[in-house]
This record gives sequence, C-alpha cells and structure tokens, in this order.
Amino acid sequence: MPVDKLSDQHFDVVVAGAGLVGLSCALALSRQGMTVALVESRPRPQTKSGDEAWDARIYAISPANATWLAAMGVWQRLSRQRVCPIAQMQIFGDAASHLQFDATEANVDHLGFIVESGRLEAALWEALTDSTVELIDGVTPVTARFGADQAELQLAGQRKLGAALLVAADGASSWLRREAGIAVQTHDYRQMGVVANFETALAHHEVAFQWFSAEGVLAWLPLPGNRISMVWSADEALAMELLALDAQSLSERVALQGGMKLGKLKLLTAAQAFPLRQQRADALVRPGLALVGDAAHTVHPLAGQGVNLGFRDVKTLAEILSARHHPQSFGDLMLLRRYERARKADMMAMQSVTKGLSELFSHSQPLVRHVRNWGLNLTNQHAQIKKFLMQQAIR
Ligand SMILES: Cc1cc2nc3c(=O)[nH]c(=O)nc-3n(C[C@H](O)[C@H](O)[C@H](O)COP(=O)(O)OP(=O)(O)OC[C@H]3O[C@@H](n4cnc5c(N)ncnc54)[C@H](O)[C@@H]3O)c2cc1C
Repeated sequence: MPVDKLSDQHFDVVVAGAGLVGLSCALALSRQGMTVALVESRPRPQTKSGDEAWDARIYAISPANATWLAAMGVWQRLSRQRVCPIAQMQIFGDAASHLQFDATEANVDHLGFIVESGRLEAALWEALTDSTVELIDGVTPVTARFGADQAELQLAGQRKLGAALLVAADGASSWLRREAGIAVQTHDYRQMGVVANFETALAHHEVAFQWFSAEGVLAWLPLPGNRISMVWSADEALAMELLALDAQSLSERVALQGGMKLGKLKLLTAAQAFPLRQQRADALVRPGLALVGDAAHTVHPLAGQGVNLGFRDVKTLAEILSARHHPQSFGDLMLLRRYERARKADMMAMQSVTKGLSELFSHSQPLVRHVRNWGLNLTNQHAQIKKFLMQQAIR
C-alpha cells in the first residue's frame, strides 16, 4: 500500500494506552530524551474545574513511586488537600489477631499516599501536555506489526506510526497482547472489589485499616479530613448484596464490619464494583514489543500494588532503554528479555502473596483459622519480619 508521507511519522517508542501506566511510561521515556507518541482509544478525560466531588476510585501509591512521579514533575501538580499520607497500617484477622506497621519503624516519613485516580490521571496528562510527547487520543489502532528492526501501528483513518518499539499499556484485556499471540494465565477470584467513600464520625489519624475475614478483605484507606475510601473484596453474592443497599444501610454495614473503629459512617459516593482477576501474560516481550502494567499482570487489590507494579515496570523499561545509545535497536529481543527477566520476580512474588493471603482467609476450617491468626500475631512480634514486609510495601 503506498505510504502517505504527510501522515506517517517515526518515533523511538509508541505507547498504546493512556491509563496511569501508559501515561507515566510516555512521560518517563520522553524525559530520557526519546521521541514518543502516546495513542489512546478514548478521548482525553476532561477535568471539570471546581469539581469537589471525591472519586470513588483511589490508589495507595508507594513512597518510592511518589518520589519517582515527583522527579517527573507530576506529584507536585496534585493539590495537597486531595492527598492523604499513611502513617500507620492496622491489619486484623478474624480471631482478635492483629498486625501493625508504623512509618517510624521503617524509618520513613510515610508508608504510602492515598490519591484519587482521576486527579492523578489529570496530573499526568498535564505534565504530558508540557512535554514533547505526541498525544493522539480518541483514535483506535487497527493493525500492529512488530519486529526487531521496525514496529508499526496503523490507526483508524489511515495514519501510520512507525517506531523502534511498541509498548502495550492497553490494560488487562490488551489488544496488542492478543495481536502478538501472547496467552494469559487467569485466576478468577469470583470476587468483586466494592469501592465507595465515607465521611467518618471519628478522626482516622492517617491510619489505614484492613480486616481479613470469611467475608472477604475490607480496607479503609484514609482520605484528607474525616473521610475514608473503602475497598471491600467480597464474594460476588455479597458484593451484589452490598451494591443493592441504600446509602444508610451500606454505611451501617461497613461501619459494623470495621468494628465501629471510626464511629458512624456516612456514604459520600455511590458504591461501584470491579471484578477481581489475577492475570499473568506468558511473555512480556516480543521483538519490537514490550508489555507493561495490567497488560502484563493484574493482582488482587488487597496489597494495593497493581498500579505500583505497573510503575515499577515502566521504571525498569526506561532504565534498560536509556542505557542503549541507539534507539534503532530498542526492538532487539535480547535487550527486551532483560526487561522481562528484571520484572518477573517482582510480578510473581506479588501475585503469590496476594493469592495466598486471599485463599488463606477464605478457609473456614478451624485449624486453618487458628494458624492464620497465630501467623498475624507472630509477625507482629517480629521486628525483622515486619521491617522486611514494610520494605516491600514502600518500594
Ligand atoms: C477495586 C480495585 C482497587 C485497586 N486499588 C489499587 C491500589 O490501591 N493501588 C494500586 O497500586 N493498584 C490498585 N488497583 C489496580 C489498578 O487499578 C491497576 O493495576 C491499574 O489501574 C492499571 O493501569 P494500566 O494503565 O496498566 O491499565 P488501565 O488503567 O486499564 O489503562 C489502559 C488504557 O488503555 C486504553 N486502551 C485499551 N485498548 C486500547 C487500544 N487498543 N489502543 C489504545 N488504547 C487502548 C484504555 O482506554 C485505558 O485508558 C486496584 C484495582 C481494583 C480493581
């Protein structure tokens, strides 16, 4: 097919998908001096000025990732009034067992930060608008070709983008992953993550709470002021029950499930639910293609690590590519395999821990129940184990 020279462009890297991971990837690579295009099938989200409503979708961002986002000029674009640091984590089992992590024990100022998805997304888009990245939104790619020497993305409307490397950041149902013929291993938890925000009667003092029980995993994450964000990972039937409750009944149910730790709750945002699945792509690379974020892996939200894992993918990919002097060789499989090897351990460890914990607490057998609660208490008494766990969480 003849090439339309006016519409064809070549970049070092073309990133497909502008979720949090794709946005950060395009920015990180352009900050390393690479020419980058970012293609997103949805139109860019419009931020409404003066919109004070709280986003029901929130993320716990690790301190290391917050520092990385600050180094790229993103974190400082978030209003301080909309970010809440985590000073302490309190984790409860279902038989008076308890585990507590303090920022001071880990010699850090904070264990993490709670931010709203929409605000972080808007801050990333803003930083990208001030960068050299070519932003192409509201356009769907129709065909992709990739090889060690050249990759290409054909967009609807005949525009064709050439690149040394395509990055698939197009989420859990990744189209690029399918185009590459990369299979995924899926574990369906048959659970949903029910999320909603509440106003609390008592101050949370920047404490994040988590309860493991036969009714799933309930997390209360602190938001600025007397507000919390809930993520309740519950079996599908219970999730449906929770979604069907009116505002007052849901507030009462959630307050009771959390042992009235913060007094009465008042619902601020309507509850939403997300299906919970663990996925792992059989390969993270092909010649001319690399997978990052949910396109590569998804994890149970109980550790609040999904997007953090994706940010760590991007950091590793950016480091490996920037060590190469010739962008023409970014598609080289030997180089990309280094990225894949570097990310496998982190990805598999996070998936094993979250799956193991979720399964451990879904058992109703008395012995399993006893052992898991004993384990929580034991961990709480061992400073070295706690320190190790905290170091994993703050990366
Ligand atoms: C209930 C719940 C709570 C969670 N809480 C946390 C938490 O506290 N901390 C944490 O770290 N993680 C958390 N996660 C995980 C986190 O939501 C995901 O890991 C993260 O959002 C994945 O980002 P992504 O950019 O890889 O994918 P996505 O956010 O799915 O973005 C993919 C993008 O690609 C676009 N796209 C799709 N197809 C195409 C195409 N063909 N071409 C171009 N663009 C395309 C989509 O429109 C989308 O914008 C949670 C998840 C759930 C379900």
